[in-house]
Amino acid sequence: MQERNVCVESGCQAACCRNISGQMATTKEFFLNAFPMAELVDSPNTVIQKIVNHEEGVYYSILNNWWISFAISGVCPNLDSNFNCLIHESRYYQNVCKNMKNGSEDCIRAMEISKSGILQEV
Ligand code: SF4
Ligand code: SF4
Repeated sequence: MQERNVCVESGCQAACCRNISGQMATTKEFFLNAFPMAELVDSPNTVIQKIVNHEEGVYYSILNNWWISFAISGVCPNLDSNFNCLIHESRYYQNVCKNMKNGSEDCIRAMEISKSGILQEV
């Protein structure tokens, strides 16, 4: 049985699962298990430009062995048509997603940004 999705129940269509960028503490291998289609680019600036230029996909650059700069341009490929995360129960579910709590400041900001169409930083 699927766990309750309080975000869907509150009427949000996964505002924080699209057009987001930031940095996360993770290895390249762990990141690629969550986002196997992600494309390596040369720098964090290029990562950001992918969202600015509306080039849909997941992009990353490696800052060091434990830090990655990433962008999900457009809708996250792990989001299903019912606005549930396909990797939520997997061990590769990323901390940046885990830390996004319904009703938190970041959540409210994500919903506001989603309505305005501006880049969201995490
Ligand atoms: S955390 Fe907030 S923005 Fe993200 S899906 Fe839930 S309600 Fe929507
Ligand atoms: S991995 Fe899941 S929770 Fe994270 S952005 Fe994608 S769909 Fe949303």
